[in-house]
Amino acid sequence: MNTLDIQPFSKYCAAEVLPVGSKSITNRALMLAAVHGKPCRLSGALFSRDTEIMMDCLGKLGLKISANPAQRTIFVEDAAIKNKKASLFVGNAGTAARFITALAAAVDGGEYSFDSDAAMYERPMEGLIKALEEQGAQFYYKGKPYHFPFLMRTHGLKGGAVRVDASSSSQILSAVIMAGVLAKKPLEITSGETVSKPFVEMTRRMASQFPCAEYDIEPDATAASYFAALPIVTGGACIIKNFAKVRLQGDARFVSVIEEAGLVKTQIVGDDLLVMGVPEFDNSDMEVDFNDISDTFLTLASVAAYLPRRIKIKGIKHTRGQETDRVSAMAKELKKLAAGVIEEDDSLQITSHPALYKCKTRRQILEAMAENIGGRVLISTYQDHRIAMSFSVLGCADIGRGSWMEIENPQCVAKTWREFFTVLEAARGNSQKFRVVAIDGGAAVGKSSVSKAAAATLGYMHVDTGAHYRNIAYVLLEQGLRPDEPESVASALKNMKLSTTLEGNSAKILCQGRVLGDDDIRCERINANVSLFAAIPAVREFLKDYQRSMADFAKSGGFGGVIMEGRDIGSVIFPDACARIFLDADEQTRQARRAKEGITDSIKKRDALDKARKVAPLVCPEGASLIDTSNMGKDEVIAKAICIIVNS
Ligand code: C5P
Repeated sequence: MNTLDIQPFSKYCAAEVLPVGSKSITNRALMLAAVHGKPCRLSGALFSRDTEIMMDCLGKLGLKISANPAQRTIFVEDAAIKNKKASLFVGNAGTAARFITALAAAVDGGEYSFDSDAAMYERPMEGLIKALEEQGAQFYYKGKPYHFPFLMRTHGLKGGAVRVDASSSSQILSAVIMAGVLAKKPLEITSGETVSKPFVEMTRRMASQFPCAEYDIEPDATAASYFAALPIVTGGACIIKNFAKVRLQGDARFVSVIEEAGLVKTQIVGDDLLVMGVPEFDNSDMEVDFNDISDTFLTLASVAAYLPRRIKIKGIKHTRGQETDRVSAMAKELKKLAAGVIEEDDSLQITSHPALYKCKTRRQILEAMAENIGGRVLISTYQDHRIAMSFSVLGCADIGRGSWMEIENPQCVAKTWREFFTVLEAARGNSQKFRVVAIDGGAAVGKSSVSKAAAATLGYMHVDTGAHYRNIAYVLLEQGLRPDEPESVASALKNMKLSTTLEGNSAKILCQGRVLGDDDIRCERINANVSLFAAIPAVREFLKDYQRSMADFAKSGGFGGVIMEGRDIGSVIFPDACARIFLDADEQTRQARRAKEGITDSIKKRDALDKARKVAPLVCPEGASLIDTSNMGKDEVIAKAICIIVNS
C-alpha cells in the first residue's frame, strides 16, 4: 500500500510557512476573467489539481492561458469562449464542476459533455442543474439524474428570475452569481438557506472587483489552518506568511476559534501571523458551529483526539457531500486514535481518551497518548486531501517512539497543496536546528521579559547573564572586596567555582555552590556595585568561558536552543549567534517601566558605566536586529523577537 510515515517534531516548532494561494479565489478569478472575456494576470495563484482542472476546462472552451507555477502567476491572455463543443473533465473539483457547468450554460448553441472522478458522481449538482434548466439549458444524464456525467445543450442564460437551491453547496449559488454576468438580461436570483455563507460573500466581493487586468490572490486560509494548529501539538511557534493579507476568506476565522479556545496565542507581525503554543490547556467542554468555516472542521477534529476536553463540532452536515462523507470518515479515523466519538447527522462530538483528561500540559498529554495509542496508526484518507493534511498535523506529536502515524495515499493532497508534506518536513527540519540567540540591551528595555517569554514559547533554555555579574558582585562584596581593587578581585576569582542548576527552563549560576535569591542580588547595594565589578577585565574574562559553555549545557539538556540575555552576548560571547537582537527604548519609557515595577535603581548611571567601559562595552553590534520597543506593547516585542529567531 502507498503510505507516508509522518515524522514527529522532536523539538518545539520553530518554522515559517508560506501557504499556497487560495484555491477558492484562484478558481473564482479564472471564472470571472472568463465571464468578462477580458485578459487578466493573476499573481499568488494556486497550482494544484483543482486549479489545473479549472484551467484545463477553460482551455477546452477556447481561452488562452499561460501559467508559471514557480512564480505563482497565471496569465489569461485571451479570455473569450470560442468553442461551442467540448468534452470537459472536472475531476473531483467542486468549484470547477459548478463554475464550468454554469459558464458553459451561458454559451448560446453549445453542446458540452461533462465527466468527472467517480467521487464527483455522488456530489450535489441538482440545485445548479435545475436553475440552469430554468434558464434554458438541457441535460442528458449518462448515470444518475442530476449528477455527473452528463451532456448539456445550451441556449445561453435567458435572465430574469431564477431560483437557486444552494442548501447542499454554496458553490452552486456562487456559480450562478458569476455566470449571471453573461445572461441576456439581468438575473434576479432567489435562494433559500445556503451553507458556508462566507464563500457566497467572497463571490460577491470578487464579482465587484472584476473585470480587472491584474489580480492578487490571497494565501489559502484553509491551508493555513494546518500550520496554525501545528503548535497545539508541537508547542513552539509557526509563522504563517502573508496571512494578515487575508480579506476574502471566511476560513481565516479558524485561527480566532482556536485562540479563543485557549489552544494557541497569536500576534500579527507585519504581513504575517505568528501562532504560538500555550503552556497549559484547560479541560472545559467546547462546542463550536463550523458551518461558516466547515473546510477547517477536520483540522480541529483531528487535534481533538489529543486535547484534554470534549469538543463538539456542529453545522457540518453538508460536508457529508464533499470529497467524501467527511463526518463519518473523520469519526472512523478518530476512533483509531482511542478517541470517543459520537457522530450525529450534523455534528461530531470528540472526547479524547479518558487518560488525557487529567492532563494539563503538552508533555503530560504526550505521555498519556504514548500509553493509549497501541502500535502504529494507519489513517485512511478516502481521496480527501483535507483528511490527509489534518491528521498529519496530529502525527507530528512526539509520543516518544519516533514515527507512529502513516497516511494512506498521501498524493491526495495534490488536490489543493501538492507540496504540503514537503513544507511540513521543512518546518520540522527548521525546528530541529539548535539556535544560540543573543538578546542584548541596556537596563529596563524589556530584555528579561522578552527573553523569558521567547524561551518559554520555543522550548529554549534561558540564561540571564546580568544575574551572573550580580552573583559575582555579591560574593566579592561578601569577601570584603571592592570594585576599585581590580588586582584583589582578580586573585579572588582564582578560587571561585561556578556551577549551574536548572529552574524550569532557566539556567541559574551557582558561585561556590550557592544559589542566591532575587532579594540578595537585586537590591540597592548590588545595583550600585555590579556595573563597577562588571567593568573589570578579569571579571569579564572569568565569565566568558562559563557563558559560552551554556550552549552545550542547553544542548545536552535536550533544549531546542538557548536564549542568552545581557550586554555583550551578541558582540563578545556569541558574535556568531544564529540571532542577535538588540533592544532599545527611549529614556522616558524605560524610567516609566522601572517606576511601574517599583524599582528605583538609577539605570542611567549603570548604562553610562556599561557603555563607557573599555572591555565589552554595551553597543548594538553590527548586523544585529535592533528593536526599538518605545512604542510597542510587550506582546508585540515578544512576537517580533520570536519571528527573528524562527527566521534565523
Ligand atoms: O541585566 P542586569 O541589569 O541584571 O545586569 C546587571 C549589570 O551587569 C549590568 O548593568 C552590567 O553592568 C552587567 N552586565 C554586563 N554584561 C552582561 C550582563 C550584565 O556587563 N552580559
